[in-house]
Amino acid sequence: MSHSMFSAPETHSVKQNQSAWIATAAGQPLTRTALDKPSLSTEEVEVAVEHCGLCYSDLAVLQNDWGNTRYPVILGHEVIGRVTALGANAKGVQLGQRVGIGWNASSCMHCRPCLSGNQHLCPQIELTVAEHRGGFASHIHAHWAWVIPLPDGLDAAEAGPLLCAGVTVFAPLIAHAKPSSRVGIIGIGGLGHLALQVAASVGCEITAFTSTESKFAEARALGAHHVVSSNNAQALEKQRGRLDLLISTVNVKLDWGALIATLAPQGRLHFLGPVSEPVPVAAAALILQQRSVAGSVTGAPVTMADMLLFAARNQIVSRNEHFPMRDANSAIARLASGKARYRIVLDADF
Ligand code: NAP
Ligand code: ZN
Repeated sequence: MSHSMFSAPETHSVKQNQSAWIATAAGQPLTRTALDKPSLSTEEVEVAVEHCGLCYSDLAVLQNDWGNTRYPVILGHEVIGRVTALGANAKGVQLGQRVGIGWNASSCMHCRPCLSGNQHLCPQIELTVAEHRGGFASHIHAHWAWVIPLPDGLDAAEAGPLLCAGVTVFAPLIAHAKPSSRVGIIGIGGLGHLALQVAASVGCEITAFTSTESKFAEARALGAHHVVSSNNAQALEKQRGRLDLLISTVNVKLDWGALIATLAPQGRLHFLGPVSEPVPVAAAALILQQRSVAGSVTGAPVTMADMLLFAARNQIVSRNEHFPMRDANSAIARLASGKARYRIVLDADF
């Protein structure tokens, strides 16, 4: 990572009015810092941030949960903003256009995954919150292909979470669920509450698995036909053999054996939340019913664009609590408390 992108303005530099809320170490509050305007490469787009969702992955990066955070870091990867500058070779977006940027900011565009339309699997992927300034900044840069025009029919103030949480749940649902599928969603948080809405729009029969009793009624309102306690062994036992697709958005240890047992023949347990401990899988539980265990990470730019159109057409709306960007530290504390219903969005006030 080039840390020149975080450098404070030099005394002789022209005042550029760029700034960001920066994390300098794990567990430290973010501090607002004035920044130099970095040079824009030929393929890049500069976006002035208007709104940015707060995903659990931002918290994981801030806390160095995955052991690879390099400070200083600027969080935020559910960005909505307007294009303020275009590199000479930037395509597909126009100055002033309203756009979104998600977990990824750039990919090489010439490797096999990129050329197959799986740019999110590029070995040289650059993350918005690692190699670039994230959305807790006044302005951010991304490769033009990762800057997704916001379609009509979406409320810009609420759409940010679609760029990460939305596409992350949309990708496995459109790939693996049919209208006749029985789908389970584990964890009704930022990802989970959007997964319920997407699965409902696909037409699936939906079972929500939650550890929070107060979410039972809300999960039904978001599209669930059944709600099951995710940590009640008897309740899980009753689901045995039912589900064609079970998507997990939690990052905690659950009874994975009991959850795999809820899968129907050829059913799939699909991980989106990186559980910190290895998941024990009995091979016989897969073999005899031809079940599978899999996972995925966000989605390609075309999947992000499709997600936005699908959300606009089906009135899929992230339920957001709003904080002004200057209260980013309170917003992070709120996310960590687990009480947010269901996503937090920061509104830029630089
Ligand atoms: P979130 O809003 O905090 O939701 C996580 C949900 O997990 C909570 O709402 C809660 O749902 C459940 N949960 C939390 N603690 C639990 C416990 N002790 N026992 C049982 N359930 C518990 O987080 P998020 O932003 O949706 O992100 C979810 C995970 O996905 C994070 O680990 C994040 O890093 C990851 N993620 C992955 C991708 C990807 O590309 N694969 C993309 C974005 C995020 P209930 O209250 O309903 O139990
Ligand atoms: Zn995210």
